[in-house]
Amino acid sequence: MSDFPATTIGAVSLIQRGTCAFVQKLQNAVEVEKLYPNVVAETPRGDPNHMVLLGAHLDSVPAGPGVNDDGSGMSFQLELAEQLAKAGSPPRNKIRFLWFGGEEDGLVGSQYYAAHLSDTVVARTDMMLDTDMIASPNFARLVYDGDGSTFGSELAGPGGSGTIERVLTDYWSQRGMVSEPIPFDGRSDYVGFINRGIPAGGMHAAWYFARVKDAFPSEATAVNAKEGRAQLPVQIPGPRARPRPLSGSIDRCPGARAGAAARRGLR
Ligand SMILES: [Zn+2]
Repeated sequence: MSDFPATTIGAVSLIQRGTCAFVQKLQNAVEVEKLYPNVVAETPRGDPNHMVLLGAHLDSVPAGPGVNDDGSGMSFQLELAEQLAKAGSPPRNKIRFLWFGGEEDGLVGSQYYAAHLSDTVVARTDMMLDTDMIASPNFARLVYDGDGSTFGSELAGPGGSGTIERVLTDYWSQRGMVSEPIPFDGRSDYVGFINRGIPAGGMHAAWYFARVKDAFPSEATAVNAKEGRAQLPVQIPGPRARPRPLSGSIDRCPGARAGAAARRGLR
């Protein structure tokens, strides 16, 4: 859209000739809408009145390793689905697997999905577990601070989120492994679900920084790391790569978005 002047309404717009045919330019101009596909699957069995939503995102940014963010979360969910199927016995609760598009562009897919859940489904949903980055090479075991006991009640999840936090934290401590709380700071796909009052939680392993800094979330991890009980320096969330703009120049011919795909819109 940068090729277009800002004000064209009611005026004639002169566009400089680039490498694209004018037909292509025209198509690009009307096809700036971007597709953010969500992929949804659920177990055929399990109690539908106690649904568990699992969420990870399909997209990534050029600035960071997509294999971690969030190839790790989405493949974890795939593996979990396969193992569940292999196990043969149905899960106690119905599990819905959600793979979101457009997380990096502003949680687009998950916000859309959560906002369009019916009140009935929301009432039948026990929790949403977000998995966004669980394969960092210098990882941390970070558990969302569901009850706000560390980062304050204004950053706590809806009632029930504290229970999720406790279950995950206990899982690690029972195995002699440290974990750290992390705030619901609005950076991942849980946001839309929290906004609907659905208890949320999950694990996050942070992301890799080549330059090791002395950033420990807490004294406890620092001590544990020194004593060899924890993995090495943990990166607490810092500024992250900003998403790419939604549309590029209309002169980028080979990159012309598939118009049909764009028109299919969000599902
Ligand atoms: Zn992510």
